[in-house]
Amino acid sequence: MTAKNVTRIARDTGRHWVGDGFQVSTMLSYNMGPEISPFLLLDYAGPSEFPPSDAPRGVERHPHRGFETVTIVYEGEVEHGDNAGHSGKIGRGDVQWMTAGRGILHVEKHGREFSRRGGTLEMIQLWVNLPARHKMTEPGYQEILDKDIPVVELEGGAGEIRVIAGELGGTRGPARTFTPVNVWDARLGGGKGAVFEIPDGFSAFTLVLKGGIVVNGAEEIGERELAFFTREGDTITVEADRDSTLLILAGEPIDEPVVGQGPFVMNTHEEIRRAIDDYRAGRF
Ligand code: MN
Repeated sequence: MTAKNVTRIARDTGRHWVGDGFQVSTMLSYNMGPEISPFLLLDYAGPSEFPPSDAPRGVERHPHRGFETVTIVYEGEVEHGDNAGHSGKIGRGDVQWMTAGRGILHVEKHGREFSRRGGTLEMIQLWVNLPARHKMTEPGYQEILDKDIPVVELEGGAGEIRVIAGELGGTRGPARTFTPVNVWDARLGGGKGAVFEIPDGFSAFTLVLKGGIVVNGAEEIGERELAFFTREGDTITVEADRDSTLLILAGEPIDEPVVGQGPFVMNTHEEIRRAIDDYRAGRF
C-alpha cells in the first residue's frame, strides 16, 4: 500500500453564473491540461438561495459534443430536456448521466415546483471525457435515482459512501461508463477517518462540499477546496475534523490529446471546427 500524495489544492476559486440559474465555482477545467484526465470540468453550484419564481431559471438550449455530463443534485431540483427525446427531473440524491457523444442540444433548468416554492439549490456538474473511438457515439441518458445508488457503510461507524460509479469494496455503482471511473458521494462523521483504495495509475480528486478534512495525516483540505492527487499510489487516508461531505473522483487517464472550445471537447482543432460547423448547420 502506497499513498497517493496531494500535489496541489484548489482554493478561492471564486464564483460565476452559468445562465441565470447556477452560481458555480469551477474546480476543474480542461484548460488545466491532461493532468485531470479522464475528467474535463467540475463545477460546484451553490448552495444558493432562490426566491419563488414562475419562470424557472437555468440555461437555455445549448449544444455539447465529445464527452459526458454528470449532474449530481444535493439540494433542490433540476429539469433537463434534450433533442434526443430524453427529459427528466432530478432532486436531492439523484444523478443524471448524459452522454453527449456526436452531439446533443439540451436545456438545463431549475424544476418547476422548486421554482414556484423557491429554496436552496446545491449541485455538481462533472464532465467526463470520452475516448476518441467513442466521441461520436449515439447520445444517451441515464437517470440514476437516489434509491438505486448503493450505500457502503464505513468501518467503525465512520460514515457512508454512495457509490454512483465505479467500485468500492466489492460494491458497484449503477452508472455505465466508457472508461473506468469512480464517483463517490462520501459523508464522514467529525473525528472519524477512512482509508480509500484507488487503483495505482488512476487520477484522483477530492472536493470538500461541507466540513474539513486532513488527508494522509498532513494536508488540510477545507470547505469548497479540492485536492489533486498523484496517479502513483493506491490509498488515500482521510480524517474528518467535523461532519463532512466529500466528492471523491478517480479515473483511468485517457492518454489522448484534448482540444476544447466552450461546449465541445474533441482531440483536434479540425474536429472542433467541424463541431461548430455541424452545430451551425443544424446537424446536431
Ligand atoms: Mn449543458
